[in-house]
Amino acid sequence: MPRIEIARQAGACYGVERALKMARQASEEAAQPVHTLGPLIHNPLVVSELESAGVRPADTPEEAGEGTLVIRAHGVTPKVISRAQDLGLAVIDATCPYVKRVHHAAERLAKAGYQVIVVGESGHPEVQGILGHAGEGAHVVSTVEDLDNIELARKVGVVVQTTQTLAHLRAVVAELLGRVEELTVVNTICEATSERQLAAAELAARADAMIVIGGRSSGNTRRLAEICTERCQNTHHIEDADELAAAWFDGAELIGVTAGASTPADQIERTVRAISQVVGA
Ligand code: SF4
Repeated sequence: MPRIEIARQAGACYGVERALKMARQASEEAAQPVHTLGPLIHNPLVVSELESAGVRPADTPEEAGEGTLVIRAHGVTPKVISRAQDLGLAVIDATCPYVKRVHHAAERLAKAGYQVIVVGESGHPEVQGILGHAGEGAHVVSTVEDLDNIELARKVGVVVQTTQTLAHLRAVVAELLGRVEELTVVNTICEATSERQLAAAELAARADAMIVIGGRSSGNTRRLAEICTERCQNTHHIEDADELAAAWFDGAELIGVTAGASTPADQIERTVRAISQVVGA
């Protein structure tokens, strides 16, 4: 019978739990509609649970129209918050405090005259929010090669999207060192991410099959899946237990399970129960 092991650190992080709690509380207390600006987290199951509790995603403050607008853990630009307030919406800012730390670092660097480089996934909502705090000349660098398309200033300050890997930050910083006169780096990678990545890597290296649970649009879950695939080719990224296939576990002695920062604990437990049924453990 195969053994099923959950990574030491897996699933919903502090920022996501906090945002969920704030949104649920808002729906209980508010007399008017409650919207989140975009899906609260990259997890379709949780988003539909929230919809049943009356919390719906809106793409823009204008679409929310009235009532309460919850800003998700990823954060937004200051302009978005003022636009929502100008529309008369009650804003609940559930931006994760660790994301706020990136905003503050970017603001500090921009004020001190640095050109801010945001190491992160171009177009990701968290990165968009950070850019709004990073001053005029700020740029996003997704790959080291992106640096070739940027006119770098003399003084460059680096912040990093919370879900990036240290290895990627190191690569960008190493390249920048040879290109600019003055370089300040604020490592704003969130520990929840690195802890989950380390635990996933350690488990994947021992596992015969590895299941990574989380939304397909969740950057941190996708990254966990990449890390696991490097160490265990038999890695599968699923959103929910009904995607499991018995063939993945043929001959497996150890099945590893991990989950992205937007996967609540009950979803992990459900998946573990489903794997047990599939393999008869
Ligand atoms: S991964 Fe870290 S920064 Fe992102 S929401 Fe969770 S605790 Fe906050």
